[in-house]
Amino acid sequence: MTTGQRALCLISGNVILTFLLTLLARNLLINPDLLAIEQAADRKDIARFEQSIDRYRNILEGRIRRIYSAAGLLEGLDSGIQWQPLVHPLAEIGGYEDLDYYILSNNTGEISELHAGELAVRTKSYPGPAVKPEILEHVLPRLRGATGSTISGLYLSTSDGPLAYAAGKSTWRNKNLPSVYIAVRRLNATLIHEFTERLGLVTELVPAQTFNKEISDSQTKPGQRDEQDAFYTVLYGDDAQAVLHLKFQAAPRAFDDKPFSPTIWVGMLIAAGSWSLVFIYVYYRTVTPLRRITRTLQLIRQTNNFNKHLAYKPKDEFGKLVNECNELLKHISQHTEKLESYSYEDALTGLGNRRHFQEKLQNHFSIAKRKNLLVSAIVFDLDNFKQYNDTYGHDGGDEVLRQFANILKQSFTRELDVVARTGGEEFIVLILDVSASDSLRLANRVVERLFELNIPHQANHAEGRVTVSAGVATGYINKEPSLEPIIIHADAALYKAKQQGRNRSCQHQNDSTGEP
Ligand code: GH3
Ligand code: MG
Ligand code: MG
Repeated sequence: MTTGQRALCLISGNVILTFLLTLLARNLLINPDLLAIEQAADRKDIARFEQSIDRYRNILEGRIRRIYSAAGLLEGLDSGIQWQPLVHPLAEIGGYEDLDYYILSNNTGEISELHAGELAVRTKSYPGPAVKPEILEHVLPRLRGATGSTISGLYLSTSDGPLAYAAGKSTWRNKNLPSVYIAVRRLNATLIHEFTERLGLVTELVPAQTFNKEISDSQTKPGQRDEQDAFYTVLYGDDAQAVLHLKFQAAPRAFDDKPFSPTIWVGMLIAAGSWSLVFIYVYYRTVTPLRRITRTLQLIRQTNNFNKHLAYKPKDEFGKLVNECNELLKHISQHTEKLESYSYEDALTGLGNRRHFQEKLQNHFSIAKRKNLLVSAIVFDLDNFKQYNDTYGHDGGDEVLRQFANILKQSFTRELDVVARTGGEEFIVLILDVSASDSLRLANRVVERLFELNIPHQANHAEGRVTVSAGVATGYINKEPSLEPIIIHADAALYKAKQQGRNRSCQHQNDSTGEP
């Protein structure tokens, strides 16, 4: 897996984890608390609504009490009073204009009358004939069982729907007076609207059937909000029967309830977007330079070109690493150069070694052949050098080798001159474009200069000093495949010089030089 892929995995993992943790936090920590707060507010709204219904019921009961106290007052004043015309004005004390209808009756309900109130007159919605016996049947037993003189309650009438009523009883001396007085108000949309407007709630009266359907469709329970922020409640009346089915519209909730709400999506997108930016930044600031650096290093390794440099400008951690790599490359380059020079150099004298000579041999062969130049090989071999070592020690011998090498260095200074130590005390010089006679002269000059140094060598009987012999061969390249024949000829000439007594140069007679 590359760094880029790893970064991508890490970042997408992080986005998913953040999302899951947010969901968990929302569903386990935040949402339940918010839900509890909201439900408490909803319950409070329902309680306030129920209280206002209760207050209204008490107001009705208060009016009934006022009717009886007024009637009691009149009966106490005069027993001979004409009651019949007073019965209806008394009813008006009970809030005639605020009622749908009222019922006057005796204790048993045998003699009873139903009168439309102001509301029924206004809306022309009169109660049907079945309502009177039904209400009397519901109210009279309760009134008889009541401890006080008045009762009130809520009741779902089969013939007239949900009702609020208040009833009172009394016993009169005058039998013309109704002993039971029942005030009825329909719990209809108009009344509900009046209550809830004051509470600041939008409330709707719904039929029981619709109520049950909506509740099951929205998969909520009474008192619980559905997705449209509506909640439902049932108001119970006497005998715990359901009287009103209500639907409240609450203010929109302040939080998301769904797992993938727009807020969550937007949050996700922001997280993914910002992480993508992080990824792009990481990719271009680390992965790309790393790849470039790796490619360059590969190239350096494949081409062995340690002179190359890694390019990276910023002075950050990568910059430091690249600087170190560049320093290392410089070091390797210098070191390699040094090692290469060692492999071509004779450590004792600083001249080229046999390897160096072999390479130059090939090189000079090509030049001489192409330009048709004369090539001369001069081989030098110190005389009786074994005995010098035996007499003066190996270190002394080394010193002589160095001195002789210096003579060679000073004698052959042209750019194409090749001077090498090819064996223990054997040296070869390769020169181009020099005649055979001039080559011999140069060889002689070297022999003389060593002689002039006058380094004592007792065992070198003839001269008593260190001397050298040289063999010279010169020729053009004709059909020869290499310079090897010229070297062999020079060796042969050296052999001759040794035989003729040493401390001299001999020349190989070669037809191709054009000289005798
Ligand atoms: P000749 O005149 O026939 O060339 O006799 P020679 O003794 O010089 O020849 P020979 O080949 O028998 O001996 C070469 C000697 O050179 C042997 C060795 O002691 C000496 N020699 C070779 N390499 C080195 C070196 O690196 N340092 C020293 N001090 N001596 C070396
Ligand atoms: Mg030798
Ligand atoms: Mg020798």
